[in-house]
Amino acid sequence: MGFEYGKFVSSGLGKQIANTLGLPRPTTLRRHKVGAPLINGAVLLAGHGDAPVAAALTEVLSADGVQIATSPSTSVAGVIVDMTQARTPADLETLRGILAPALKTLAPTGRVIVIGRTVADTDDVAEAAARRALEGIVRSVGKEMRAGGTANMVYVAEGADANAEAAVRFFLSGRSAYVSAQVVHVGDAVADIDLPQSWDAPLEGKVAVVTGAARGIGAAIAEVLARDGATVVCVDIPAAGGPLADVANKIGGSALQVDVTAEDAGTKIVEHAAQLHGGFDIVVHNAGITRDKLLVNTDADRWGSVLNVNLLSILKMNEALVPAINEGGHIVNVSSIAGIAGNRGQANYGASKAGVIGMTSSLAKDPQVLAKGVTVNAVAPGFIETEMTAKIPLATREIGRLTNSLSQGGQPVDVAETIGWFAWDSNRAITGDTVRVCGQMILGA
Ligand code: NAD
Repeated sequence: MGFEYGKFVSSGLGKQIANTLGLPRPTTLRRHKVGAPLINGAVLLAGHGDAPVAAALTEVLSADGVQIATSPSTSVAGVIVDMTQARTPADLETLRGILAPALKTLAPTGRVIVIGRTVADTDDVAEAAARRALEGIVRSVGKEMRAGGTANMVYVAEGADANAEAAVRFFLSGRSAYVSAQVVHVGDAVADIDLPQSWDAPLEGKVAVVTGAARGIGAAIAEVLARDGATVVCVDIPAAGGPLADVANKIGGSALQVDVTAEDAGTKIVEHAAQLHGGFDIVVHNAGITRDKLLVNTDADRWGSVLNVNLLSILKMNEALVPAINEGGHIVNVSSIAGIAGNRGQANYGASKAGVIGMTSSLAKDPQVLAKGVTVNAVAPGFIETEMTAKIPLATREIGRLTNSLSQGGQPVDVAETIGWFAWDSNRAITGDTVRVCGQMILGA
């Protein structure tokens, strides 16, 4: 165990030094617990004009026992502002007028959610400006939030108001602890939206395939999907057979030893899932590697191996997985902020992870995928505490941990929770999106 900044500034002496120097002190984030309420306190629901999405959400959330506040002066744990009726930048004053007093008294690990209409859906220049401005407000507020609070943006297409529930639930909940300043797009659902019997078991009865499941983020994904009701096929290379079996046994799933770059990897997964579980509903493409070097020193092998494992294998496996996945299923890909911002020494990795984002938005629109009602989304983790990041030299590691709005690294479970949410059948109106799980890291913001 080396020196850890977060632990140091939370200790007695460290706290004093941090206060004196004005150093950031990380808050313990509110993470999801089975059986816990959606949010610990009242939620303010307000908006501009008729605020139709807020009206629909008032019903849904109060039916779930969430206390709803309507005045910005009440102290609350969450604020949802419906700006779907904003027509010009002048209307943004409504949002300022609601957020300014509410943020002053927002509880620790509070939540801000702004709802707007999809920018591309208007031909009116002033309206498009107002809609896009919301994103700028949310990203700035994310940087001003204190005590583990997050701010996120939900764009809802005209006619899709009823489809926003899954996104709002996620952003209010502890499942989104390390997700801030993100923008998601709710549109028409690709298949019927099915609400779960229990919001604590949204994946009940589903079968999920997770690659790279023997350790790190993949093991956390397998555990979270199983906790939420899914039976999980855990896939990893034969060399990781021992830990892979441990993960599968722990969660009552099955293990499949296969290298994702093998020509027949997709077919093997399809056959395994069919024989043992009668098919599959969810695929998480998580397996990934790094082979860092400056581009000038990167040879064809170093280049090819990373692109092969992180990107080409997914394209190849999907040739078998897409025709076989159950209707209404979900594909979730693991990208990285290095695929958004780029990273020194990671041209190969950045290429593969940016490629994953391009593949995600394109596959979401593929006629075969649409006909099957399958969603395709991606997560882009920032600095996550795993064996991969533990190997980074101390100074660089501390920078990675601290250069985000929550002043700490994320946990594998944070990535897993976002992936789990993309796999909900109530979440069939978001497809083609990439959500960063990075605590609003400064890189690529
Ligand atoms: P990790 O190295 O701890 O685990 C990766 C797993 O994938 C291992 O179990 C490994 O055996 C498996 N794997 C590698 N090549 C494989 C292959 N050819 N076939 C099958 N399995 C294979 O890494 P991690 O930190 O858990 O990362 C998981 C994913 O998250 C990766 O795609 C990674 O690029 C991405 N990611 C991680 C971070 C981070 O901070 N840790 C940040 C951004 C993105």
